[in-house]
Amino acid sequence: EGLLAGQVAVVTGGASGIGLATTRLLCQDGAKVVVVDLDPEASQAAVAELAGAGHDVRAEVVDISSEESVAALARGVLEEEGRVDVLVNNAGINAAAMTLWDTPPEVFEKMWRVNLFGTYLMCRAFVPTMLEAGYGRIVNVASVAGKEGNTGSSAYSSAKAAAIGLTKSLGKELAGTGVICNAVTPGVIRTPLAMRTTPDHIQRLAAKIPMGRIGEPEEVAEIIRWASSPRCSFTTASVLDASGGRTTY
Ligand code: NAD
Repeated sequence: EGLLAGQVAVVTGGASGIGLATTRLLCQDGAKVVVVDLDPEASQAAVAELAGAGHDVRAEVVDISSEESVAALARGVLEEEGRVDVLVNNAGINAAAMTLWDTPPEVFEKMWRVNLFGTYLMCRAFVPTMLEAGYGRIVNVASVAGKEGNTGSSAYSSAKAAAIGLTKSLGKELAGTGVICNAVTPGVIRTPLAMRTTPDHIQRLAAKIPMGRIGEPEEVAEIIRWASSPRCSFTTASVLDASGGRTTY
């Protein structure tokens, strides 16, 4: 019945914020969803909510920045499900605002490991099965920070810019195979991650939004839902914006 009936979707960071909103919509569209998240409690809560509503969903507690963990995850998912049609690389982290020269190497490296390297590992693990099937949809959640660069955000902004570059390369490499790869760039969205930075910082960011407000996770998830579906058929290696008019490219 649903647009994604019979399909299997993997959503990283699917237990919170934009990822949870995405998990809900993909479930509504009939997909079986594997939530991949570091946080066991949030994962359990997400599964309880959605399985309770009759959806086919389970969680794997995995650190996407670990090569071994991602390899084990891919083996397990492919063994159990036999297919992956949709991969949403949404898991990400941010840090408190700090200048580049105040950013310790560990912070810089961690930001790249999760926001960029994790996305690379997940794509590398799941693209082969999509190629075999001749069908797949990959959506990488980047950020407007990757387009504009935010003050006090050199590690995050650069990792998100790199995720956009990865999406463009991979989308072109896969063009014509039936596997499509796009990025989504949210602006400021009301999620636990965004709310962890200072209210002052959020207000400064919100002031730059032409629509005059921050976004809701569901408003980003709707774009991911489309890009995860067969309805997205002639758009690949593209960057889809969800920022209330803040970035227009
Ligand atoms: P969130 O913190 O609400 O959710 C992120 C989820 O990712 C959490 O459940 C967390 O446990 C999980 N996660 C973190 N590191 C992980 C790892 N190494 N392995 C597996 N799971 C991990 O955040 P959100 O705001 O919903 O962010 C989702 C994505 O959207 C992120 O990539 C973020 O950078 C991006 N984004 C968010 C905003 C915003 O304003 N909220 C803006 C632009 C981009």
